[in-house]
Amino acid sequence: MALAPFFDRIYGAVGMHLSVSRENLSSSLESTVVGIHCGPNLNPNERIIAELTVNLAARLYPKLAIIGQDVDVEWLKSLALEINPDIEIVANAIGETSICVGSTNVEGAIYPSASGWVARVSHQPPLSGGIENPYAASAASALACSELFRRIFLHSKQEPDLSISLLDFGSNAGEHLELTTESIGDVLFVGVGAVGNAAIWAMSKDEKTRGTLTLLDNETVTLSNLQRYVLAAYSDVSKIKVELAASAMQHSALSVLTSQSTLEEFTPLLGWVQPPTTCISVDNVNGRRVAQALLPKLVINGWTGEGALGASWHEFSRNAACLACLYQPHGQGLSATQQAARAFGLLEERAATLWVTRAPLSNDERKAAAKVLGVKPAVLKPWRNKPIGELYTDVVCGAVPLDIGGAGRVEVVPLAHQSVLAGILMAVELLKRCQPELASISQPETLISWDDILRPAPKNWKKPRPRENGCICGDQVYQSVYREKWLV
Ligand SMILES: [Zn+2]
Repeated sequence: MALAPFFDRIYGAVGMHLSVSRENLSSSLESTVVGIHCGPNLNPNERIIAELTVNLAARLYPKLAIIGQDVDVEWLKSLALEINPDIEIVANAIGETSICVGSTNVEGAIYPSASGWVARVSHQPPLSGGIENPYAASAASALACSELFRRIFLHSKQEPDLSISLLDFGSNAGEHLELTTESIGDVLFVGVGAVGNAAIWAMSKDEKTRGTLTLLDNETVTLSNLQRYVLAAYSDVSKIKVELAASAMQHSALSVLTSQSTLEEFTPLLGWVQPPTTCISVDNVNGRRVAQALLPKLVINGWTGEGALGASWHEFSRNAACLACLYQPHGQGLSATQQAARAFGLLEERAATLWVTRAPLSNDERKAAAKVLGVKPAVLKPWRNKPIGELYTDVVCGAVPLDIGGAGRVEVVPLAHQSVLAGILMAVELLKRCQPELASISQPETLISWDDILRPAPKNWKKPRPRENGCICGDQVYQSVYREKWLV
Protein backbone atom coordinates (compact mmCIF):
# COMPACT_ATOMS: atom_id res chain seq x y z
CA MET A 1 0.00 0.00 0.00
CA ALA A 2 1.74 3.16 -1.21
CA LEU A 3 -1.18 5.35 -2.29
CA ALA A 4 -1.48 8.34 0.03
CA PRO A 5 -4.13 8.32 2.80
CA PHE A 6 -5.49 11.42 1.04
CA PHE A 7 -5.88 9.60 -2.30
CA ASP A 8 -9.55 10.69 -2.53
CA ARG A 9 -8.40 14.28 -2.84
CA ILE A 10 -5.69 13.35 -5.34
CA TYR A 11 -8.42 11.70 -7.39
CA GLY A 12 -10.55 14.81 -6.94
CA ALA A 13 -7.75 16.88 -8.50
CA VAL A 14 -6.15 14.63 -11.12
CA GLY A 15 -9.38 12.80 -11.99
CA MET A 16 -11.19 16.04 -12.71
CA HIS A 17 -8.40 17.44 -14.87
CA LEU A 18 -7.94 14.31 -16.92
CA SER A 19 -11.29 12.52 -16.72
CA VAL A 20 -9.77 9.20 -15.65
CA SER A 21 -11.56 6.68 -13.45
CA ARG A 22 -10.44 6.11 -9.88
CA GLU A 23 -9.19 2.60 -10.79
CA ASN A 24 -7.21 3.80 -13.81
CA LEU A 25 -5.62 6.59 -11.80
CA SER A 26 -4.60 4.33 -8.93
CA SER A 27 -3.17 1.71 -11.26
CA SER A 28 -1.23 4.25 -13.32
CA LEU A 29 0.16 5.80 -10.13
CA GLU A 30 1.10 2.37 -8.76
CA SER A 31 2.97 1.53 -11.94
CA THR A 32 4.96 4.79 -12.10
CA VAL A 33 8.23 5.42 -10.28
CA VAL A 34 9.26 9.07 -10.11
CA GLY A 35 13.00 9.65 -9.74
CA ILE A 36 14.62 12.60 -8.00
CA HIS A 37 18.37 12.43 -8.67
CA CYS A 38 20.59 14.73 -6.61
CA GLY A 39 24.19 15.56 -7.52
CA PRO A 40 26.90 15.95 -4.85
CA ASN A 41 27.36 19.15 -2.80
CA LEU A 42 24.09 20.83 -3.72
CA ASN A 43 24.23 24.64 -3.59
CA PRO A 44 21.47 26.61 -1.78
CA ASN A 45 19.25 26.94 -4.89
CA GLU A 46 19.65 23.24 -5.65
CA ARG A 47 18.80 22.24 -2.08
CA ILE A 48 15.56 24.23 -2.33
CA ILE A 49 14.76 22.67 -5.72
CA ALA A 50 15.40 19.15 -4.36
CA GLU A 51 13.32 19.75 -1.24
CA LEU A 52 10.31 21.24 -3.03
CA THR A 53 10.44 18.59 -5.77
CA VAL A 54 10.31 15.79 -3.17
CA ASN A 55 7.62 17.70 -1.27
CA LEU A 56 5.44 17.99 -4.40
CA ALA A 57 6.12 14.48 -5.73
CA ALA A 58 5.28 12.85 -2.37
CA ARG A 59 1.82 14.45 -2.49
CA LEU A 60 0.92 12.66 -5.73
CA TYR A 61 3.15 9.73 -6.64
CA PRO A 62 3.18 6.66 -4.36
CA LYS A 63 6.60 5.41 -5.50
CA LEU A 64 9.69 7.61 -5.42
CA ALA A 65 13.35 6.89 -6.08
CA ILE A 66 15.41 9.54 -4.27
CA ILE A 67 18.96 9.03 -5.44
CA GLY A 68 22.32 10.62 -4.55
CA GLN A 69 25.36 10.43 -2.31
CA ASP A 70 24.72 13.54 -0.26
CA VAL A 71 23.58 13.21 3.37
CA ASP A 72 20.67 15.44 2.40
CA VAL A 73 19.21 12.57 0.41
CA GLU A 74 18.36 10.62 3.58
CA TRP A 75 16.62 13.70 4.91
CA LEU A 76 14.63 14.01 1.66
CA LYS A 77 13.45 10.41 2.03
CA SER A 78 12.21 11.11 5.55
CA LEU A 79 10.44 14.25 4.26
CA ALA A 80 8.56 12.10 1.70
CA LEU A 81 7.51 9.68 4.45
CA GLU A 82 6.35 12.53 6.68
CA ILE A 83 3.99 13.64 3.90
CA ASN A 84 2.74 10.17 2.89
CA PRO A 85 3.57 7.56 5.56
CA ASP A 86 2.60 4.82 3.08
CA ILE A 87 4.95 6.00 0.33
CA GLU A 88 7.30 3.44 -1.16
CA ILE A 89 10.94 4.49 -1.58
CA VAL A 90 12.53 2.41 -4.33
CA ALA A 91 16.05 2.23 -5.77
CA ASN A 92 15.71 3.23 -9.44
CA ALA A 93 13.67 5.25 -11.90
CA ILE A 94 13.95 5.78 -15.64
CA GLY A 95 15.07 9.16 -17.00
CA GLU A 96 11.72 9.96 -18.65
CA THR A 97 10.01 10.09 -15.25
CA SER A 98 12.92 11.71 -13.41
CA ILE A 99 13.95 15.17 -12.25
CA CYS A 100 17.68 15.86 -11.80
CA VAL A 101 19.07 18.45 -9.38
CA GLY A 102 22.66 19.72 -9.42
CA SER A 103 25.56 17.97 -11.19
CA THR A 104 24.04 14.69 -12.17
CA ASN A 105 23.24 13.30 -15.56
CA VAL A 106 20.36 10.95 -16.38
CA GLU A 107 19.38 10.50 -20.02
CA GLY A 108 15.91 11.88 -20.77
CA ALA A 109 15.39 13.60 -17.38
CA ILE A 110 14.12 17.12 -16.55
CA TYR A 111 16.66 19.61 -15.07
CA PRO A 112 15.29 22.55 -13.05
CA SER A 113 17.75 25.26 -11.99
CA ALA A 114 17.77 28.88 -10.84
CA SER A 115 20.00 31.91 -10.90
CA GLY A 116 18.97 35.20 -9.35
CA TRP A 117 15.39 35.93 -10.40
CA VAL A 118 15.51 33.51 -13.35
CA ALA A 119 13.92 30.05 -13.12
CA ARG A 120 15.00 27.49 -15.71
CA VAL A 121 13.94 24.05 -16.85
CA SER A 122 16.23 22.34 -19.33
CA HIS A 123 16.80 18.86 -20.70
CA GLN A 124 20.50 18.54 -20.20
CA PRO A 125 22.59 19.23 -17.07
CA PRO A 126 22.73 23.01 -16.45
CA LEU A 127 25.90 24.93 -15.62
CA SER A 128 26.36 24.93 -11.88
CA GLY A 129 26.27 28.02 -9.68
CA GLY A 130 23.90 30.94 -9.80
CA ILE A 131 22.91 33.66 -7.37
CA GLU A 132 20.85 32.35 -4.49
CA ASN A 133 17.13 33.06 -4.80
CA PRO A 134 14.54 30.80 -3.13
CA TYR A 135 11.68 32.16 -5.25
CA ALA A 136 13.25 31.31 -8.62
CA ALA A 137 14.45 27.96 -7.23
CA SER A 138 10.93 27.12 -6.01
CA ALA A 139 9.41 28.20 -9.33
CA ALA A 140 11.89 26.03 -11.26
CA SER A 141 10.86 23.03 -9.15
CA ALA A 142 7.12 23.63 -9.72
CA LEU A 143 7.68 24.10 -13.48
CA ALA A 144 9.67 20.85 -13.65
CA CYS A 145 6.95 19.01 -11.70
CA SER A 146 4.35 20.29 -14.16
CA GLU A 147 6.32 18.93 -17.14
CA LEU A 148 6.71 15.64 -15.29
CA PHE A 149 2.93 15.54 -14.73
CA ARG A 150 2.23 16.06 -18.45
CA ARG A 151 4.77 13.38 -19.37
CA ILE A 152 3.19 10.83 -17.03
CA PHE A 153 -0.50 11.51 -17.50
CA LEU A 154 -0.69 13.08 -20.97
CA HIS A 155 2.23 11.17 -22.50
CA SER A 156 3.70 14.44 -23.74
CA LYS A 157 7.13 14.48 -25.34
CA GLN A 158 10.09 16.52 -24.15
CA GLU A 159 9.06 20.18 -23.97
CA PRO A 160 11.08 23.25 -25.02
CA ASP A 161 13.62 24.53 -22.47
CA LEU A 162 12.33 27.35 -20.27
CA SER A 163 14.08 30.45 -18.94
CA ILE A 164 11.70 32.78 -17.11
CA SER A 165 12.59 35.94 -15.22
CA LEU A 166 10.16 36.34 -12.34
CA LEU A 167 10.76 40.11 -12.53
CA ASP A 168 9.51 40.90 -16.02
CA PHE A 169 8.65 37.46 -17.48
CA GLY A 170 11.27 37.86 -20.17
CA SER A 171 14.15 35.39 -20.23
CA ASN A 172 16.95 36.87 -18.11
CA ALA A 173 16.17 40.04 -16.11
CA GLY A 174 17.66 39.88 -12.61
CA GLU A 175 19.80 36.84 -13.29
CA HIS A 176 22.74 38.45 -11.46
CA LEU A 177 20.70 40.36 -8.87
CA GLU A 178 21.03 39.43 -5.18
CA LEU A 179 18.11 39.58 -2.73
CA THR A 180 18.46 42.58 -0.41
CA THR A 181 17.64 43.13 3.26
CA GLU A 182 15.15 45.84 2.32
CA SER A 183 11.86 45.72 4.24
CA ILE A 184 8.51 45.02 2.56
CA GLY A 185 6.80 46.80 5.49
CA ASP A 186 3.62 45.60 7.19
CA VAL A 187 1.58 43.08 5.23
CA LEU A 188 -1.84 41.64 6.00
CA PHE A 189 -1.52 38.11 4.62
CA VAL A 190 -5.08 36.85 4.13
CA GLY A 191 -5.65 33.11 3.55
CA VAL A 192 -3.20 30.33 4.37
CA GLY A 193 -4.69 27.77 1.96
CA ALA A 194 -2.77 25.96 -0.76
CA VAL A 195 -1.63 29.15 -2.52
CA GLY A 196 -0.76 30.89 0.77
CA ASN A 197 1.11 27.76 1.92
CA ALA A 198 3.38 27.91 -1.11
CA ALA A 199 4.06 31.64 -0.71
CA ILE A 200 4.97 31.09 2.95
CA TRP A 201 7.10 28.06 2.00
CA ALA A 202 9.17 30.17 -0.42
CA MET A 203 9.41 33.12 1.98
CA SER A 204 10.52 30.78 4.79
CA LYS A 205 13.65 30.10 2.73
CA ASP A 206 14.36 33.83 2.33
CA GLU A 207 16.83 34.86 5.04
CA LYS A 208 17.18 38.45 3.81
CA THR A 209 13.88 40.21 3.16
CA ARG A 210 12.57 41.97 6.26
CA GLY A 211 9.06 43.10 7.22
CA THR A 212 6.04 41.91 9.20
CA LEU A 213 3.35 39.51 8.03
CA THR A 214 0.05 39.27 9.89
CA LEU A 215 -1.40 35.90 8.88
CA LEU A 216 -5.22 35.53 8.83
CA ASP A 217 -7.06 32.23 8.33
CA ASN A 218 -9.79 30.73 10.51
CA GLU A 219 -9.32 27.08 9.50
CA THR A 220 -7.39 24.01 10.61
CA VAL A 221 -5.52 21.56 8.34
CA THR A 222 -7.61 18.62 7.08
CA LEU A 223 -6.39 15.34 5.60
CA SER A 224 -7.49 16.35 2.10
CA ASN A 225 -5.37 19.55 2.37
CA LEU A 226 -2.24 17.37 2.23
CA GLN A 227 -2.82 16.89 -1.50
CA ARG A 228 -1.40 20.39 -2.12
CA TYR A 229 -0.45 22.19 1.13
CA VAL A 230 3.34 22.21 0.99
CA LEU A 231 3.73 23.28 4.63
CA ALA A 232 1.74 20.32 5.94
CA ALA A 233 2.95 16.83 6.86
CA TYR A 234 0.67 13.94 7.81
CA SER A 235 1.14 14.72 11.51
CA ASP A 236 -0.05 18.32 10.96
CA VAL A 237 -3.68 17.33 10.28
CA SER A 238 -6.00 19.37 12.56
CA LYS A 239 -3.34 21.96 13.40
CA ILE A 240 -4.33 25.62 13.07
CA LYS A 241 -3.26 26.84 9.62
CA VAL A 242 -1.84 30.20 10.71
CA GLU A 243 0.19 28.55 13.47
CA LEU A 244 1.61 25.97 11.09
CA ALA A 245 2.64 28.80 8.76
CA ALA A 246 4.15 30.87 11.57
CA SER A 247 6.28 27.95 12.75
CA ALA A 248 7.58 27.46 9.19
CA MET A 249 8.76 31.10 9.17
CA GLN A 250 11.05 30.78 12.20
CA HIS A 251 14.30 31.14 10.25
CA SER A 252 13.24 33.88 7.86
CA ALA A 253 14.03 37.54 8.52
CA LEU A 254 10.31 38.40 8.37
CA SER A 255 8.38 38.81 11.63
CA VAL A 256 5.07 36.97 11.82
CA LEU A 257 1.87 37.68 13.76
CA THR A 258 -1.21 35.43 13.53
CA SER A 259 -4.95 35.62 13.97
CA GLN A 260 -7.22 32.61 13.52
CA SER A 261 -9.91 34.61 11.76
CA THR A 262 -11.21 35.66 8.37
CA LEU A 263 -10.63 39.15 7.00
CA GLU A 264 -14.30 39.94 7.68
CA GLU A 265 -13.89 38.88 11.34
CA PHE A 266 -10.59 40.69 11.73
CA THR A 267 -11.65 44.00 10.15
CA PRO A 268 -13.89 45.21 13.04
CA LEU A 269 -10.75 45.10 15.18
CA LEU A 270 -9.49 47.87 12.91
CA GLY A 271 -8.80 50.07 15.88
CA TRP A 272 -5.44 49.18 14.48
CA VAL A 273 -3.73 51.16 11.85
CA GLN A 274 -4.32 49.43 8.52
CA PRO A 275 -1.16 47.85 7.10
CA PRO A 276 -0.37 49.41 3.69
CA THR A 277 -0.28 46.05 1.90
CA THR A 278 -2.76 43.19 1.71
CA CYS A 279 -1.66 39.89 0.16
CA ILE A 280 -4.68 37.66 -0.45
CA SER A 281 -5.34 34.13 -1.67
CA VAL A 282 -8.67 33.14 -0.08
CA ASP A 283 -10.89 30.61 -1.88
CA ASN A 284 -13.88 32.90 -2.29
CA VAL A 285 -14.71 35.93 -4.39
CA ASN A 286 -16.28 37.90 -1.59
CA GLY A 287 -13.14 37.94 0.55
CA ARG A 288 -11.18 39.44 -2.33
CA ARG A 289 -13.76 42.12 -3.01
CA VAL A 290 -13.80 43.01 0.70
CA ALA A 291 -9.99 43.19 0.70
CA GLN A 292 -10.04 45.74 -2.13
CA ALA A 293 -12.94 47.73 -0.66
CA LEU A 294 -10.91 48.27 2.55
CA LEU A 295 -8.58 50.30 0.31
CA PRO A 296 -5.10 49.17 1.32
CA LYS A 297 -2.32 51.04 -0.49
CA LEU A 298 -1.37 47.89 -2.40
CA VAL A 299 -3.13 44.56 -2.94
CA ILE A 300 -1.34 41.42 -4.10
CA ASN A 301 -3.47 38.49 -5.22
CA GLY A 302 -2.72 34.83 -5.98
CA TRP A 303 -5.23 32.40 -7.43
CA THR A 304 -5.92 29.10 -9.16
CA GLY A 305 -8.97 28.41 -11.33
CA GLU A 306 -10.05 25.69 -13.73
CA GLY A 307 -6.69 24.55 -15.09
CA ALA A 308 -5.22 28.04 -14.66
CA LEU A 309 -3.07 29.92 -12.16
CA GLY A 310 -1.82 33.43 -11.68
CA ALA A 311 -1.04 36.45 -9.56
CA SER A 312 -1.85 40.14 -9.79
CA TRP A 313 -0.94 43.45 -8.15
CA HIS A 314 -3.17 46.47 -7.66
CA GLU A 315 -2.66 50.10 -6.64
CA PHE A 316 -6.11 51.65 -6.52
CA SER A 317 -5.12 55.02 -8.00
CA ARG A 318 -3.32 53.42 -10.94
CA ASN A 319 -5.20 53.42 -14.24
CA ALA A 320 -5.53 49.63 -14.38
CA ALA A 321 -7.85 46.96 -12.99
CA CYS A 322 -8.23 46.91 -9.22
CA LEU A 323 -8.69 43.57 -7.46
CA ALA A 324 -12.48 44.03 -7.41
CA CYS A 325 -12.40 44.48 -11.22
CA LEU A 326 -11.04 40.94 -11.56
CA TYR A 327 -13.85 39.62 -9.40
CA GLN A 328 -16.83 41.61 -10.67
CA PRO A 329 -19.94 39.45 -10.19
CA HIS A 330 -20.22 38.64 -13.90
CA GLY A 331 -16.56 37.56 -14.00
CA GLN A 332 -14.81 34.46 -12.83
CA GLY A 333 -15.89 32.51 -9.78
CA LEU A 334 -19.21 31.00 -8.69
CA SER A 335 -20.30 30.50 -5.09
CA ALA A 336 -20.42 26.96 -3.74
CA THR A 337 -24.23 26.92 -3.97
CA GLN A 338 -24.13 28.15 -7.57
CA GLN A 339 -21.61 25.45 -8.39
CA ALA A 340 -23.75 22.81 -6.69
CA ALA A 341 -26.80 24.04 -8.61
CA ARG A 342 -24.88 23.70 -11.85
CA ALA A 343 -23.48 20.28 -10.93
CA PHE A 344 -26.87 18.81 -9.95
CA GLY A 345 -29.11 20.61 -12.44
CA LEU A 346 -31.02 22.54 -9.71
CA LEU A 347 -32.32 26.10 -9.71
CA GLU A 348 -29.86 28.30 -7.81
CA GLU A 349 -32.53 29.33 -5.31
CA ARG A 350 -33.39 25.72 -4.52
CA ALA A 351 -29.71 24.78 -4.12
CA ALA A 352 -29.20 27.74 -1.77
CA THR A 353 -32.22 26.73 0.36
CA LEU A 354 -31.05 23.13 0.63
CA TRP A 355 -27.54 24.33 1.43
CA VAL A 356 -28.50 26.57 4.35
CA THR A 357 -31.00 24.07 5.82
CA ARG A 358 -28.44 21.26 5.41
CA ALA A 359 -31.18 19.20 3.75
CA PRO A 360 -30.68 16.29 1.32
CA LEU A 361 -31.93 16.30 -2.26
CA SER A 362 -35.43 14.83 -2.71
CA ASN A 363 -35.64 11.45 -4.43
CA ASP A 364 -36.61 13.05 -7.71
CA GLU A 365 -33.87 15.66 -7.45
CA ARG A 366 -31.32 12.97 -6.70
CA LYS A 367 -32.38 11.00 -9.78
CA ALA A 368 -32.22 14.14 -11.92
CA ALA A 369 -28.77 14.98 -10.48
CA ALA A 370 -27.54 11.49 -11.37
CA LYS A 371 -28.66 12.13 -14.93
CA VAL A 372 -26.84 15.48 -15.09
CA LEU A 373 -23.70 13.89 -13.68
CA GLY A 374 -23.96 11.00 -16.12
CA VAL A 375 -24.17 8.23 -13.50
CA LYS A 376 -26.81 5.62 -12.66
CA PRO A 377 -29.25 6.75 -9.89
CA ALA A 378 -27.95 3.95 -7.63
CA VAL A 379 -24.53 5.64 -7.54
CA LEU A 380 -25.96 8.57 -5.57
CA LYS A 381 -28.12 6.43 -3.25
CA PRO A 382 -25.56 6.40 -0.38
CA TRP A 383 -26.06 10.19 -0.16
CA ARG A 384 -29.88 10.04 0.15
CA ASN A 385 -29.89 11.31 3.76
CA LYS A 386 -26.87 13.54 3.54
CA PRO A 387 -26.85 17.35 3.17
CA ILE A 388 -26.43 18.75 -0.33
CA GLY A 389 -23.12 20.33 0.76
CA GLU A 390 -21.70 16.97 1.68
CA LEU A 391 -22.80 15.39 -1.60
CA TYR A 392 -21.26 18.28 -3.51
CA THR A 393 -17.94 18.04 -1.66
CA ASP A 394 -17.84 14.30 -2.26
CA VAL A 395 -18.47 14.83 -5.97
CA VAL A 396 -15.71 17.44 -6.13
CA CYS A 397 -13.31 15.27 -4.16
CA GLY A 398 -13.90 12.27 -6.32
CA ALA A 399 -15.71 10.21 -3.66
CA VAL A 400 -18.64 9.94 -6.09
CA PRO A 401 -17.34 7.86 -8.98
CA LEU A 402 -18.19 9.97 -12.03
CA ASP A 403 -17.72 9.10 -15.64
CA ILE A 404 -16.17 11.51 -18.09
CA GLY A 405 -19.48 13.21 -18.83
CA GLY A 406 -20.01 14.57 -15.33
CA ALA A 407 -16.50 15.75 -14.82
CA GLY A 408 -16.89 19.07 -16.61
CA ARG A 409 -19.77 20.17 -14.40
CA VAL A 410 -18.01 20.43 -11.07
CA GLU A 411 -15.33 22.68 -9.74
CA VAL A 412 -11.85 21.37 -10.49
CA VAL A 413 -9.55 20.83 -7.49
CA PRO A 414 -6.17 22.35 -8.40
CA LEU A 415 -3.09 20.19 -8.81
CA ALA A 416 -0.31 20.59 -6.24
CA HIS A 417 2.22 22.17 -8.62
CA GLN A 418 -0.50 24.52 -9.90
CA SER A 419 -1.28 25.94 -6.45
CA VAL A 420 2.41 26.08 -5.59
CA LEU A 421 3.35 28.09 -8.65
CA ALA A 422 0.48 30.50 -7.96
CA GLY A 423 1.77 30.98 -4.40
CA ILE A 424 5.34 31.58 -5.51
CA LEU A 425 4.21 34.13 -8.10
CA MET A 426 2.14 35.87 -5.41
CA ALA A 427 5.13 36.04 -3.03
CA VAL A 428 7.31 37.39 -5.85
CA GLU A 429 4.79 40.14 -6.71
CA LEU A 430 4.74 41.08 -3.02
CA LEU A 431 8.51 41.57 -2.93
CA LYS A 432 8.63 43.32 -6.30
CA ARG A 433 5.95 45.89 -5.54
CA CYS A 434 7.29 46.68 -2.05
CA GLN A 435 10.93 47.12 -3.10
CA PRO A 436 11.34 50.11 -5.46
CA GLU A 437 14.49 48.82 -7.15
CA LEU A 438 12.72 45.61 -8.16
CA ALA A 439 9.50 47.44 -9.08
CA SER A 440 11.41 49.60 -11.57
CA ILE A 441 12.49 46.55 -13.59
CA SER A 442 9.26 44.54 -13.23
CA GLN A 443 6.41 44.09 -15.68
CA PRO A 444 3.84 46.94 -15.67
CA GLU A 445 0.95 44.56 -16.43
CA THR A 446 -1.51 43.94 -13.60
CA LEU A 447 -2.01 40.26 -14.16
CA ILE A 448 0.25 37.32 -14.91
CA SER A 449 -1.27 33.96 -15.68
CA TRP A 450 -0.82 30.51 -17.12
CA ASP A 451 -4.22 29.64 -18.55
CA ASP A 452 -3.95 25.89 -19.19
CA ILE A 453 -1.55 23.89 -17.08
CA LEU A 454 -2.16 20.76 -19.15
CA ARG A 455 -0.12 22.49 -21.86
CA PRO A 456 3.53 23.63 -21.70
CA ALA A 457 4.21 26.92 -19.90
CA PRO A 458 3.10 29.96 -21.93
CA LYS A 459 5.45 32.22 -23.88
CA ASN A 460 3.48 35.23 -22.72
CA TRP A 461 2.51 35.44 -19.04
CA LYS A 462 1.62 39.13 -18.94
CA LYS A 463 -2.03 40.24 -19.21
CA PRO A 464 -2.81 43.97 -19.19
CA ARG A 465 -6.23 44.49 -17.58
CA PRO A 466 -8.19 47.76 -17.82
CA ARG A 467 -10.69 48.84 -15.18
CA GLU A 468 -14.16 47.29 -15.34
CA ASN A 469 -17.12 49.60 -15.89
CA GLY A 470 -19.16 50.00 -12.73
CA CYS A 471 -16.39 48.89 -10.38
CA ILE A 472 -15.55 50.83 -7.20
CA CYS A 473 -12.26 51.98 -8.74
CA GLY A 474 -14.23 54.21 -11.14
CA ASP A 475 -15.97 55.92 -8.19
CA GLN A 476 -14.59 59.37 -7.35
CA VAL A 477 -15.50 59.07 -3.65
CA TYR A 478 -13.54 55.82 -3.28
CA GLN A 479 -10.65 57.35 -5.20
CA SER A 480 -10.47 60.46 -3.03
CA VAL A 481 -10.65 58.41 0.20
CA TYR A 482 -7.77 56.30 -1.12
CA ARG A 483 -5.65 59.31 -2.08
CA GLU A 484 -6.24 61.02 1.24
CA LYS A 485 -5.47 57.84 3.18
CA TRP A 486 -2.18 57.10 1.46
CA LEU A 487 -1.24 60.62 0.31
CA VAL A 488 -0.73 59.52 -3.28
ZN1 LIG B 1 -11.93 48.02 -10.08
